[in-house]
Amino acid sequence: MNIDSVTSNSIGRRRLAAFSAVIVFSLLPAVAAQPVRLVLPAKHGPLMDRAAAIFTRRVNQRCGAQAAGANPFTIELRVDPTVGAEGFTISGGARGTVHVTGGDERGVLYGLGKLFRTSRCDSGKFSPGSWRGTSRPVASLRGVYLASHFGNFYEAAPIEELETYVEDLALWGVNAVGFAFPAGQYTSYEDPAARSNLKRILAMMQTSRRAGMQVGAFVAPNQTFKTAPKELYAQRYPDDWGRRGYLGINLCPSLPAGRKYLLEAWSGLLEEYRSVGLDFAVYWPYDEGGCGCPRCWPWGSRGYVQICRDFTRLARSKNPHFKSVVSTWMFDTPPAGEWDGLTKVLAEDKNWADYIMADAHEDFPRYPLDRGVPGGLPLVNFPEISMWGMSPWGGYGASPLPAHLQHLWNQVAGRISGGFPYSEGIYEDLNKAICSQFYWDPRRTALDTVREYAASEFSPDVAEDVVRTVGILEANHRRRRGRFEAPPHQTVEAYELLRKADQRLTPQARRAWRWRILYLRALIDDELRRMEGKPRGPVLKDAFAELVRIYHAEHVHTNRVAPPEIVP
Ligand SMILES: [Zn+2]
Repeated sequence: MNIDSVTSNSIGRRRLAAFSAVIVFSLLPAVAAQPVRLVLPAKHGPLMDRAAAIFTRRVNQRCGAQAAGANPFTIELRVDPTVGAEGFTISGGARGTVHVTGGDERGVLYGLGKLFRTSRCDSGKFSPGSWRGTSRPVASLRGVYLASHFGNFYEAAPIEELETYVEDLALWGVNAVGFAFPAGQYTSYEDPAARSNLKRILAMMQTSRRAGMQVGAFVAPNQTFKTAPKELYAQRYPDDWGRRGYLGINLCPSLPAGRKYLLEAWSGLLEEYRSVGLDFAVYWPYDEGGCGCPRCWPWGSRGYVQICRDFTRLARSKNPHFKSVVSTWMFDTPPAGEWDGLTKVLAEDKNWADYIMADAHEDFPRYPLDRGVPGGLPLVNFPEISMWGMSPWGGYGASPLPAHLQHLWNQVAGRISGGFPYSEGIYEDLNKAICSQFYWDPRRTALDTVREYAASEFSPDVAEDVVRTVGILEANHRRRRGRFEAPPHQTVEAYELLRKADQRLTPQARRAWRWRILYLRALIDDELRRMEGKPRGPVLKDAFAELVRIYHAEHVHTNRVAPPEIVP
């Protein structure tokens, strides 16, 4: 069955009927060259259709519409549970059919992702690369958290772009995605601004679910609407070290009316998400949330525990498979007995908690590593891949951090069951890929993923030059408000490497946003050095304007998520 001249989106809507022994899935009109032809088993589920559509879209992007001879490359998809959950095997010859066998349909999708990244396209002809073998994920919860606020990419981009982006992440093996609804910005669920945000979140949730992901909510359980009665407000908590923050509208759950208000709001959010259904929530203690009243404090082992337990009970009454992830963000900073207290509470009853999340602004918290994870639960992390050491975030183009992420990963490798990198935008796409591969295989290095990413998104011919450039960019990473924290080095070399690489790319790779943000970062760093750190002149003006277009940052609410202003 050939599908002529349709977009990947319309394929998603068009369920392929299983009426023959095999179903052949290919794109582009029959008269034009087709880079690949996918053969699906007669009986398969919607995720395999989706996997085929996502893979085909990416291959066609990479290969372009050039003539490639009459014979498309054939790839056969199938499921064999003996491969293992979410795992895949790629087998077959370079000249003959390649087989992608998933342990389940998610495994087929992740196998197609691996095949895509290790293949290449020359003059429109697809070559499947030489990677063969079986691979299974080590961590089970391989998530991302997409923060949509401030007018950042997730809040501002057209929904189709967001959907495409989420699908691209699925190819890296990402199987969970979390979103937050910023209730404190709104009067109620009926607030028009709230409706607009919920509509976008729901669209992204639906796309994520179609791409085999679990969907969830990041929620500070005592945080709510700005119209909440002031007499129910939480009390400030100790923050002697200035790490816990105090954001949003927080209520005290130890007040019966406060608890009632919060549970009704949670019930309302579950209702808003009813069409998708929440697979999980990640509960958040601080900088959003918290109460320091005598009945709630220490928050992390008393008030927080009570309200999280209530939330889990309510969510499970709607979905018995609902999972709760209990974040310990900024526990015991300064010490308040929160880790010990949570350990004690969970030793008595851990029915309401499924995972413990831990992480910090810098090094990983010692408690779960040295003393054990409360309740003996699986541990997940929350790597900060977006804001570290640079502001505005993404304001200078791509911000790859392989060495930094490797340093953090080495503290937890082999001890965690997954995590949720915190994302403010697409400028750290490479960091998401690095984390996804840490979760998949804890022994895989960040640099190895950079190499695979560069070969796949740009060209195998420039991969080593990109690896070298990324090292230079990371060494010059740290800056505040347009100023390098230390004099930048080797910016001429980095820019020169990418200028030469640019000439070796196909037109479609050269135009793609992933290349442009990396290229612009090298250009901007070198130009900023020439301008002695001041964002001025026509070169920077044009470069920043292009970043604004890529991020859809024309209407940002703050200067945190857009390039710096040009100065006279
Ligand atoms: Zn309280």
